[in-house]
Amino acid sequence: MQNIAILGATGSIGQSTLDVVQLHPEKYNVVALTAHSNVDKLISQASQFQPDYLVISDAKSYGTAQQAVKSAQLNCELLVGEEGLCQVASASNVDSVMAAIVGAAGLLPTLAAVKSGKKVMLANKEALVMCGDIFIQEVNKSGAQLLPIDSEHNAIFQCLPRDFEHGDLATSGIAKILLTGSGGPFLNRALDRFQDITPDQACAHPNWDMGRKISVDSATMMNKGLEFIEAKWLFGLKSSDIQIVLHPQSIIHSMVQYADGSVLAQMGNPDMKTPIAHCLAFPNRISAGVKPLDFSTLADFSFQVPDFQRYPNLKLAIDACDAGQHATTALNAANEVAVEAFLSQQIGFTQIAQVNEEMLQRIEQQQLHDIEGILAVDKEVRILAKQFIGSIV
Ligand code: NAD
Ligand code: MG
Repeated sequence: MQNIAILGATGSIGQSTLDVVQLHPEKYNVVALTAHSNVDKLISQASQFQPDYLVISDAKSYGTAQQAVKSAQLNCELLVGEEGLCQVASASNVDSVMAAIVGAAGLLPTLAAVKSGKKVMLANKEALVMCGDIFIQEVNKSGAQLLPIDSEHNAIFQCLPRDFEHGDLATSGIAKILLTGSGGPFLNRALDRFQDITPDQACAHPNWDMGRKISVDSATMMNKGLEFIEAKWLFGLKSSDIQIVLHPQSIIHSMVQYADGSVLAQMGNPDMKTPIAHCLAFPNRISAGVKPLDFSTLADFSFQVPDFQRYPNLKLAIDACDAGQHATTALNAANEVAVEAFLSQQIGFTQIAQVNEEMLQRIEQQQLHDIEGILAVDKEVRILAKQFIGSIV
């Protein structure tokens, strides 16, 4: 029996994880569920899965959650805040942690899971973007098992040889990592019509059903940029090892190209339950409740090169990746603030890249050796980005 804590249980990845777990009650036991403020959803999940712990991270929602736990007659401990998240992520009766909080808020709880040597199923890519080097060092120190949930990284992981050594492409005969992306909802939109894109249009991804932040990131292709940085840290790559390939159908989820000319691809219908099931059961396989791929009805596969004029955020992310940790930490913070401002209709779609570019120009080159330094840059850039947004609206 695997005892699981699900951080961000009420989100898209969290719910999909519960959907897979529900199919295998003999294999998985839910020990903890967390939500920021969606008390109703958390309580309904808890009534079904009967965890030992619930965490509500938004302190303002704690009172409501307390009442709700009582009236649902749940037999569990209710914790609050980031401290509560870190406590369940490192609890001794937890074997594995699904890290599915969105954004920088997921960093410390995910690191708590890593430091206590858990099996960590990583959806929260922002954690690696913010502090990849420190994160991987902590994984190595604690002996935690890090498994990628992000569909592209999960695909790459599946296409790498089982004995692949972090960063050693040559020994495995690997020529390139081909990171695929759909191009999002605006792949074919006229460039002069980008200003009037609305939040709902940006969140309507053609292939994937996701939370709103990552949906906007997919529309700007910042998501692929964050994934570029995530891939670098997960597999120990150089920028020149990674090639981004647009594949609008999202059937191939990424590929590994070998020196002998072979290309291994992982395919499947675009449904996050597949990588979730893969990580839950690794190294075994379980059913995920996903519709099987049907090659008799599959439309054509097509591929293109991404255009940086259409996706300026992608270029910013690749440049930040080459500039170093301070730059990717700053970019992540700027982007979270900008996306929030776009979703609340403070700024337009094209201004997301404007905010991000401005913050990358302003951040000073510096070495970041610890989490305190990372969090300081994150905080500083959030303040600057909000001020900058105030000056352009
Ligand atoms: P979501 O918005 O649907 O869910 C986010 C979860 O995080 C919710 O449970 C919410 O309560 C919690 N949360 C939000 N703010 C918080 C805060 N300040 N403190 C603590 N908890 C907070 O997001 P999602 O689409 O499930 O994505 C989650 C993560 O997984 C993101 O990092 C995303 O990039 C990554 N991811 C998602 C998908 C996908 O298909 N949805 C695919 C790949 C990677
Ligand atoms: Mg992805």
